[in-house]
Amino acid sequence: MILQDKVALVTGGASGIGRATAIAFGAAGAKVVFSDIRSVEGEETADLIRETGAECLFVKSDVSSEVDVRELVQTTVATYGKLDCAFNNAGIDLVVTPLHEQSIEDFDKIMSINARGLFLCMKYEIQQMLTQGAGAIVNNSSTNGLVALPGISPYVASKHAVMGLTRSAALDYAKQGIRINAVNPGPIATDLMARSANQMGITLDGLGSWVPMDRIGQTTEIAQAVVFLCSDAASYITGQPLAIDGGYTAS
Ligand code: NAD
Repeated sequence: MILQDKVALVTGGASGIGRATAIAFGAAGAKVVFSDIRSVEGEETADLIRETGAECLFVKSDVSSEVDVRELVQTTVATYGKLDCAFNNAGIDLVVTPLHEQSIEDFDKIMSINARGLFLCMKYEIQQMLTQGAGAIVNNSSTNGLVALPGISPYVASKHAVMGLTRSAALDYAKQGIRINAVNPGPIATDLMARSANQMGITLDGLGSWVPMDRIGQTTEIAQAVVFLCSDAASYITGQPLAIDGGYTAS
């Protein structure tokens, strides 16, 4: 229960890595607020968290809307009194094709959610954490925030932007008790990765052959790392990427 008495926020908690992390936050003792644009799947996550005995609140909220993000943080504080930990996870992928065939609309859309949306979340989370003099933020980047893959240049750009925001903000608040880190997952078994793999003409399991451990990762393997980075066990870690990728970026 390393997050006992903490209040934790997750964006994009209706499925995949966000859902697993919202459940893991609850299991670690935190009260959990999580958001998504999908209500039905959001309520399913809420049921899964409550089954473990943890307290939670689902808020329908779009990370690309400043009004939504400001209200999400306000609702968290109004409900549970504070905000200790935040996992900025909501993100999308789009079509797999070389840069000259990528549309400007798709570029703007992916940046508005993966980069601008994450910036908005950090802005309002940090405003609250500054009033408390403490907090821990983890941003979900990707191995594509550290190295590139062909065919997904807007996604790679958005995930490198997450790393820039993480490192720069970590320096802004290093003296004020707020730690800001990133996780950089390799291929993880989620709907998003299944869609991307399908576009690349490969199965989810087939993606495992790209990885030194010869398998793709599970959502819980990211969730446990996020819980650690949010906990006091990570008290001297800030501004860092943590690749959770079966060794993919080691080579
Ligand atoms: P997912 O599609 O299962 O989860 C993403 C969630 O974000 C969905 O529930 C979706 O409804 C929500 N979402 C989308 N747009 C939103 C918005 N505007 N506001 C609020 N919520 C929104 O996919 P996932 O694989 O769990 O992805 C989660 C994060 O992990 C993403 O940022 C993704 O880029 C990152 N990531 C995933 C992998 C992987 O292999 N699955 C690898 C590296 C990074």
